[in-house]
Amino acid sequence: MRQRLVIGNWKLNGSLAKNAALLTALKTHQTSAIGAVCVPMPYLAQAQSELTGTKLAWGAQTVSEQASGAYTGEVSAEMLVEFGCKYALVGHSERRALFGETDVMVANKFARLLAAGVTPVLCVGETLAEREAGTTESVVQRQLLAVATVVGAAAMQRAILAYEPVWAIGTGKTASPEQAQEIHAFLRGCLRKLGDDNGKCVPLLADMPILYGGSVKASNAAAIFAMPDVDGGLIGGAALVAEDFLAIWSAA
Ligand code: PEP
Repeated sequence: MRQRLVIGNWKLNGSLAKNAALLTALKTHQTSAIGAVCVPMPYLAQAQSELTGTKLAWGAQTVSEQASGAYTGEVSAEMLVEFGCKYALVGHSERRALFGETDVMVANKFARLLAAGVTPVLCVGETLAEREAGTTESVVQRQLLAVATVVGAAAMQRAILAYEPVWAIGTGKTASPEQAQEIHAFLRGCLRKLGDDNGKCVPLLADMPILYGGSVKASNAAAIFAMPDVDGGLIGGAALVAEDFLAIWSAA
C-alpha cells in the first residue's frame, strides 16, 4: 500500500517563540497520514526537542553536496542525522532558480541523504514558460532521471517524489486536481518503467509516494488528494498556520 503523507516547508520563516506555538498545536494531532515539517537549519534542535516521541516528524529544506571540509555555510547529511531529521527536501524550485542548483547537484545531494539514512524528498516541476511550450513531461522526466541515473533505480525506492509546478508555488494558483493527476500519473509511469528497465528487480518503485505541492490550502486539499496518483502534499505558506496545516494533514 502506498504511504500517504503531508510535509510542511517552512522556508525562511519562524522564530523560537512562533515555532514553539506552531509545533505545540501540531504535535498532538491524530490522523493516519504521516506528517512532517521541514524547518530552517537553526531550528532543527528545537524541532528535535519539541517533537521527539510525537507523531510529527521533522527535516531540513536542503543539504550539502559535500560530506565535510572547507565548505563555509554548508550543512552535511550526517549533521542532519544528529538532529533527528527523517526527511530533507532536494531540488526545490527556489533552490534551483535562486541558488543555481543543477540536476547534477540535486542528484549529489540526494545521494548524500540516502547514504546518511535521511529520506530525500525530490522536488520536480515545470515553469509557466515550460508548460506553455508543452514541455512539462520532458522537464519533470529529466529532473527525475538525472537523480535515478546517479543513485540507481533501487535506491529511488527509499525516497519521496514531489511534483511542484513552479507557476503554482506561492502564487495562489493551484494546479487543478486533473492537472496534478495527469503529471502524477506520468511520473508514476516513469517510475514503473525505471523499475522494469532494471530487470523488474524494483517492483515497488511504482509505489513511491508522489506528493503534490503548489498553493495547497485547507479548501482545495481534499480534491487534490482524492486523485488516484496523488499521495499527499508538500505545503508551503499554509504550513505556517496551525489550523490550515492540520486541516490539510487530515485531508491526506
Ligand atoms: C513549497 O514551497 O514547496 C510550496 C508548495 O509552497 P506554497 O504551498 O506556498 O505554494
